[in-house]
Amino acid sequence: MHLTQFLKRFDTEQKCIDFFRDYREQHGLVCTFCTSKDLHWSSSKRLWHCNGCSKRLGLRKGTIMENSKLPYRIWLTVLYLMLITKKGYSAKEMQNLLGHNRYEPIWLMMHKIRIMMGKRDQQYQLDGFVELDEGFFAGHRKKGVNHKGQAFKEIDRNEKVLVAVNRGDKGAKYLKMTVVDSLSKKDIAYEVPKMIGRSATVITDGRRCYTPLENLVEEHQVHIIRNKKEVCNVFPWVHIAISNAKKKIKGIHHHVNNKYMQNYLNEFTYRFNRRNFNEKIFERLLIAVTAFAWFA
Ligand SMILES: [Zn+2]
Repeated sequence: MHLTQFLKRFDTEQKCIDFFRDYREQHGLVCTFCTSKDLHWSSSKRLWHCNGCSKRLGLRKGTIMENSKLPYRIWLTVLYLMLITKKGYSAKEMQNLLGHNRYEPIWLMMHKIRIMMGKRDQQYQLDGFVELDEGFFAGHRKKGVNHKGQAFKEIDRNEKVLVAVNRGDKGAKYLKMTVVDSLSKKDIAYEVPKMIGRSATVITDGRRCYTPLENLVEEHQVHIIRNKKEVCNVFPWVHIAISNAKKKIKGIHHHVNNKYMQNYLNEFTYRFNRRNFNEKIFERLLIAVTAFAWFA
C-alpha cells in the first residue's frame, strides 16, 4: 500500500476502529475468559460481548495495544511508517512526524512493536547452510542496581550479539540476531538451538565457545581465519549483516541503552527477513498486531 492509499484509507479514527474490528474477527477472535469463538460486537461500546460467558472483550484486549491510550490511527500510522521505509525512525522523529505532544507513549509504542517483531521471528529457526559469528554493538549502560542488589556505574559497553544467516543460491535468506550475556560455551549452547535447527550445517571461525555446536546441529564446519581478507569470502553475509545493522542503529538512535539493544536488532532483523514482501509486509505485521498476544 502506497502512502497516498494509506492516508486515504485510514483518514478517520472510526475507519481505523472498523478496520481493527474486522481484522480481529477475520483472524480468529477468541474470548480470553472462556475461549469461546461466539462473540457479538457492540458498536456503541466498542467491544465484543461473549455469548459463552457474557463477559466483555475490548477491541485492544489481548493485543499489543492493550493498556495503550493512543488512538488507533496513531497505532496504524506508526506501524505503517516503521515498515515502509528501509531506514526506520527514532521515537523523536516519529513524535515530530505525528505532531504528538508527548515523547514517552510514542517511545513505548515503538518498543512494544519491536518486541512483537522479535516474538514473531522467534517462531522460526534457521536451517540449511548457516554462517554464525559474533558482533559487538556499541551500547550504553546507565547506572543502576543489578539483580544481586549491587550498584553499577554508568559505562559505554559493547553488547555481544550472536548473528546467524542462512545462505541460499542467491545469497542471504534469513537472519537472526540475539544479544547474549557472554560468549561462554554455556550461553552458546543455550542460545543456538533457539536460532538454528538441528538439521542445519553451520560454519564458524572455530572460536572455542562454538564447540558445543557439534552436538546441536547436523554438521559444524570450522574455518579458521588467518587473513582478514578471507572473512568476506568465508562469512560474506554475516559480516554484511553486522555492519549494516551497526550503521543503521547508530545512524538512527545514536546512543543506545544496552537494555533495548535486542529491540533495535529485532526491528532490523524483521525488516531484513521480509525485504521481498513489498506491500504485504504491512499486512503481515497487522495480523501479528491484531491476532497475536504479544506478551505471551
Ligand atoms: Zn467468554
